[in-house]
Amino acid sequence: MADEPIEALGNKTPLQYAQTPYMDKLAQLGITGRMQTVPEGYLPGSEVANLTILGYDLPKMYEGRAVLEAASMGVNLEAGEVALRCNLICIEKELIKNHSAGHITTEEADELIKTLNEKLGSDMVRFHTGVSYRHLLVLKTGSKELDCTPPHDVPLHPFQPLMIEPLVPEAEDTAKLLNALILKSQEILKDHPVNQKRIIEGKDPANSIWPWSPGYRPAMQTMSEMLGFEKGAVISAVDLIRGIGVYAGLDVIQVEGATGLYDTNYEGKAQAALDALKTHDFVYLHIEASDEAGHEGDVDLKVKTIEYLDRRVIRLIFEELQQWDEPVAIAILPDHPTPCAIRTHTNKPVPFLIYKPGEQPDKVMAFDEYVVENGKYGILEKDEFIKKVVLY
Ligand SMILES: [Zn+2]
Repeated sequence: MADEPIEALGNKTPLQYAQTPYMDKLAQLGITGRMQTVPEGYLPGSEVANLTILGYDLPKMYEGRAVLEAASMGVNLEAGEVALRCNLICIEKELIKNHSAGHITTEEADELIKTLNEKLGSDMVRFHTGVSYRHLLVLKTGSKELDCTPPHDVPLHPFQPLMIEPLVPEAEDTAKLLNALILKSQEILKDHPVNQKRIIEGKDPANSIWPWSPGYRPAMQTMSEMLGFEKGAVISAVDLIRGIGVYAGLDVIQVEGATGLYDTNYEGKAQAALDALKTHDFVYLHIEASDEAGHEGDVDLKVKTIEYLDRRVIRLIFEELQQWDEPVAIAILPDHPTPCAIRTHTNKPVPFLIYKPGEQPDKVMAFDEYVVENGKYGILEKDEFIKKVVLY
């Protein structure tokens, strides 16, 4: 949701420009500030920002995104196992044509992953089907000290020089094994019926695996252990966020029609959050739509997603909670900025508001990136935000 001033909006940010009466109301009733969701030394990935928001100290527990996706896929990692994100990619004339094999369908990918398990699977090597081009490779033992290249960073680069390098001598065997798997996967996938059919249809074949983001099972305390509440829940369409929820000890709640895009089921997610609050002490409701609009660089769509969030989620939750006897705190923040101008994430502090019934508000009367600079909480980092939300 967070962005930069945009000329087409009269030098306002989408959040300043959008009509957001309910976020403004909650800012008036609550206390505002900014949060450094991306700690120094980390790239502004969604997993980094969301883990930090929930109070995790990244240097102590960060293992990359693959292990979190594993959790959302129901893959339970044992101690010593190494998990890697395993993309199905398209290589053409020795070049990485794209990182997604032309956004292959999950059904097609599942057939390829099954074949890879038949031919390359062993006590040591296991592939797991995820979604579209995003899958998982688990090694029974190995080192995670590897130099792997995210394939979306290197379109049209020759793949050979980008193969996996060990960062320490102990990782040499693991790197060798993974590189051998990449080359063998290319032999196996080349003539696979799924790919033959894709080629005939003019689509990109998924003719190689590409493992990256190696990690071990993260040493994560649950949020209950860290913060003392009994039961929490997470609602998100994004596998990464659900995986964080699994390790955080939150119940993962599925909502029909939750897509992770601007056409998501906003009202359904709001209702699911309200239902969950009847049985849980804490609910983490994540809506991806504005981030996707930012990646597309679509200013009008971004404004619309923010207005949808205000009217179709926050309004419903706020109005319903007004009827409850038990007071419920509401906090709102983006995980990181995704400015439309650059179409990728940045590490700037994000605006937040925390409304707790009965607490003295600060003087901030609206909710956007700039007005909250006057907020009482200043800039929070690490677990300061979640403690202010959860602890009374
Ligand atoms: Zn994003």
